[in-house]
Amino acid sequence: MSDEHVVVVGAGMAGLVSALQLAHRGMKVTVVDPADQPGGKIRQLMVQGAAIDSGPTVFTMRWVFEQIYAAVGERLGDQVQLEQLPIIGRHAWTDGSTLDLFADPEQSREAIRAFSSPQEADRFDKFCQLIRKVYDTLEGPYIRAASPTPLSLTKDIGWQGLGVLGGLGAMPTLWQSLRHQFSDPRLIQLFGRYATYCGSSPWAAPATLMLIAQVELDGVWSVRGGIHALVKNLEKLALQRGVTFKYKNWCQRINTSQGRVIGVTLQSGEVLNADKVVFNGDAQALRDGLLGPQAQGAVSAKSPPRSLSAMTWSVHARTSGFALDRHNIFFQNNYAREFEDIFGQQRLPQQPTVYVCAQDRGTDTPPTDKERLLCLINAPAVGDSQAWTQETIQACQTQTFSMLQSFGLSVHAGSQDLICTTPQDFAQRFPATGGALYGQATHGWMAAFARPYGRSQLPGLYLAGGSIHPGPGMPMAALSGRMAAEALVADRNSTKRFHPAATFGGTLTQ
Ligand SMILES: Cc1cc2nc3c(=O)[nH]c(=O)nc-3n(C[C@H](O)[C@H](O)[C@H](O)COP(=O)(O)OP(=O)(O)OC[C@H]3O[C@@H](n4cnc5c(N)ncnc54)[C@H](O)[C@@H]3O)c2cc1C
Repeated sequence: MSDEHVVVVGAGMAGLVSALQLAHRGMKVTVVDPADQPGGKIRQLMVQGAAIDSGPTVFTMRWVFEQIYAAVGERLGDQVQLEQLPIIGRHAWTDGSTLDLFADPEQSREAIRAFSSPQEADRFDKFCQLIRKVYDTLEGPYIRAASPTPLSLTKDIGWQGLGVLGGLGAMPTLWQSLRHQFSDPRLIQLFGRYATYCGSSPWAAPATLMLIAQVELDGVWSVRGGIHALVKNLEKLALQRGVTFKYKNWCQRINTSQGRVIGVTLQSGEVLNADKVVFNGDAQALRDGLLGPQAQGAVSAKSPPRSLSAMTWSVHARTSGFALDRHNIFFQNNYAREFEDIFGQQRLPQQPTVYVCAQDRGTDTPPTDKERLLCLINAPAVGDSQAWTQETIQACQTQTFSMLQSFGLSVHAGSQDLICTTPQDFAQRFPATGGALYGQATHGWMAAFARPYGRSQLPGLYLAGGSIHPGPGMPMAALSGRMAAEALVADRNSTKRFHPAATFGGTLTQ
């Protein structure tokens, strides 16, 4: 083990990946997190003895995790059991129509033909070709690149890539683009919803976000034991490589001396000296000075707009009346109104889209008794500015479950069978976010380039997580954890003497 000590602040997906990679390279690593277990947003809640995945539920981009495991000499398939889901998502509308998207594109095409029309099935084919091209164009030069800029992207995607992105039209939004590609409003709604995977509105997100549809069409997996089993496994591998986990500890301050990081101070008063620090909290916490004035200059001062928050219900109950699959989406008629309520009016949507993850379904025989559900609606990230009363929360709950009822789905849950989590709850767990779950909103073309990179502007401080490039979602956060570790190792290995201003060009707050 080298003498070099790295403190990782936060045991979310990105923090765990960074810690694992760095410990595998022989560094001494300490991870600090206020929770009593790893995962951050990836967590299980116990409801009446049932462990319910209450954060992310859609596992995609398996290759990201395969590469992360391979980089530390492990095989993902040996460590966690993944099963590919035959149905990606079951979608339902108020007119009683339903549409499944399948892992097999041919099946999806047939389903769309039956659900809508042969012409719409042809349009789906064209859409699939387009999103494949958009994804392939952006994977290397944007998703995998450590610090892409509009200029580097233009250079790296080449003429062919420019042709693909140029073909989307002059800076259209995702919604505008989808309106050109489909006639059936239900399909526009279905594919527009992918903007919410980045916590954004389809009316403001750039058309390039259609690549998220490709990510899902490339495969959705379930994790045996729940998604939390993945973070427990990452923790286990990190422990095997000597990582120390200090749970139930907030990091209160990132300490610096002569313009570079020298360690952290915990809320308990304990000081951990470190050569380098990886920060896995939200970048906004640095910006707001929550980690001390020195760390404030590590990211640009401008606060970007927040992404979506959510109201969630972790439920253990019997259901009836609607044939749930694993991932179910219940759409309302006025989709635009949902985003106007959230982003425009900063209030709970009057007519929310409801997502229900039925965690005992998808691969095995459906449950015959109580089952585990995560129900989720989008909400504004106002957890630090609005105090909602119990009446507001209860009214939202009643409305959400009545909406499900209007689709035929009865959830037979008493108050003891569910746990509700609000933006206010998320805001407490993720400081400076107001409960925003996906970092900044990806609104406008430049938003994708506005996220900080893994190497911060403060020497010795590295950043990883959903608010950092390449963005939110488990695989992206995992990639950012890897990039932060790689930047740290590259800097360590650099034989050049360190000249902060020359290297990073940043303004440092001393
Ligand atoms: C309800 C919900 C549903 C989601 N659905 C999906 C999905 O289906 N698929 C998907 O891919 N993604 C989904 N996401 C998003 C995904 O969970 C996140 O993008 C990803 O897990 C974020 O990882 P992260 O590395 O940013 O860490 P986070 O999970 O944000 O964790 C950061 C950690 O840092 C800690 N921390 C912060 N500040 C400090 C400090 N000062 N001191 C010590 N520790 C600190 C926090 O306690 C936390 O544990 C969902 C998220 C939520 C909440």
